[in-house]
Amino acid sequence: MTERTLILIKPDGVQRQLVGRIIDRYEQRGLKIVGLKLVRVERALAEAHYAVHRERPFFGELVDFIVSSPLVAIALEGPNAVAICRAINGATRPHEAAPGSIRGDFALDTGKNLVHASDSVENAQGELALWFAPGELQAWDRSTDGWILPG
Ligand code: UDP
Ligand code: MG
Repeated sequence: MTERTLILIKPDGVQRQLVGRIIDRYEQRGLKIVGLKLVRVERALAEAHYAVHRERPFFGELVDFIVSSPLVAIALEGPNAVAICRAINGATRPHEAAPGSIRGDFALDTGKNLVHASDSVENAQGELALWFAPGELQAWDRSTDGWILPG
């Protein structure tokens, strides 16, 4: 089932110059980039994106962190893209993230865990609409699709 999902490379990933290495993890897996931009986030957008965590004690710090410096927003497409990206990112808490995952290879702190990925197809659709205007998402034919995608 083809899905689209939202990835954020959070400010720590941009500041640590890990953008290329992080994007490489998704690209080498075969996921297709259908949207990509560097964003200096408005507080309202960060709060909307993390609205589900509004009542959690870390909410204020999380929003402060997300707006502190530019981040990279990416829309990715592929079979089971939501679950695959969650696995590529690894567990939320880096000490629980498997080696080979982004967090398991590059992160130590839960608040500085480098990446976001949508956690369901439904949430992915909402998050993509929040971060990308329709015209910023591109459906395109990749010459290698027949060697990567089912059918
Ligand atoms: N977070 C935090 N402290 C916590 C739990 C989460 O700072 O105790 C941050 C962390 O950066 C995480 C984000 O809040 O990535 C969103 O939390 P969620 O549980 O949705 O984790 P994710 O979906 O990013 O793995
Ligand atoms: Mg989450």
